[in-house]
Amino acid sequence: MEYSINTFEKLLEECRINNKKIYEIMQEKEAYDLEITVETVREKVYKNILAMKAAIKNGINSKEKSYSGLCGDDCYKLKEKYSKVPSLFGKLYEKITMYSLATTEENLRMNKIVACPTAGSCGIVPAVIIALSEEKELTKDDEINALITAGTIGFVVSSKVAMAGAVAGCQAECGVASMMAAASVVQILGGNEFQIVNAAALAIKNLLGLTCDPVAGLVEIPCVKRNAFLAVHAITAAELALADIESKIPPDEVIDAMVQTGQLMSPLLKETSKGGLSLTKSGILLNERLGK
Ligand code: SF4
Repeated sequence: MEYSINTFEKLLEECRINNKKIYEIMQEKEAYDLEITVETVREKVYKNILAMKAAIKNGINSKEKSYSGLCGDDCYKLKEKYSKVPSLFGKLYEKITMYSLATTEENLRMNKIVACPTAGSCGIVPAVIIALSEEKELTKDDEINALITAGTIGFVVSSKVAMAGAVAGCQAECGVASMMAAASVVQILGGNEFQIVNAAALAIKNLLGLTCDPVAGLVEIPCVKRNAFLAVHAITAAELALADIESKIPPDEVIDAMVQTGQLMSPLLKETSKGGLSLTKSGILLNERLGK
């Protein structure tokens, strides 16, 4: 089916008119645009789920450092900590934080990950979907529905702004990933379409202005740990949305604010490594040590 979806308002309208879920609208759109069947779309999505699971499985058992030597053993340390002192927030929280680190560390080892929406922010969506899948014993179809829902959020945002730290700061990478993850949680937990979009809005609304200032120009500091923080942030947004707590600024307007904030942000804080953390005393020292 042909759908023109470039705003959240339009997406919700299509859901209402056609009495369909967000993932149903998007899988039909994708099938129409690519001239393939809905089943093929879903199988393609499932391949990504399998790749996400593989990255988590590999990453959680590794403490191999990145080529720079700056990062690579944070997931291992967290796993060790949980084995001795469990998290205050239980098993799901433990998995979300570990899986996000596991995936992003696989990225900096140059191993296979799913960019969702980008490589730097690749840990957030998989951590949330796979951890919830394990803890709630989701089916293959549940996982696919969740990832298509997450992807739809990214798709709508991308119609207004490029998802790149160089364009709009980290709000456009980890921020969007957190939106996508929040939406997928609401889908998994049976929320309605408005709650799904509202969760995404709540997530990004509280990340506006998030800068991109990677130390030594590497997607490592602060990127790796940021994935763990924003995966948890997504859960908060989803819980609020499921309680019908609304963003008083409508989702499309929140995205407009995000775009404007990105435009107002100094280029020094947009992936140039010329400001913020990368220009701290320690950031400069690390940069020099790496011969950059
Ligand atoms: S800080 Fe910059 S490089 Fe790192 S994940 Fe965010 S946008 Fe990407």
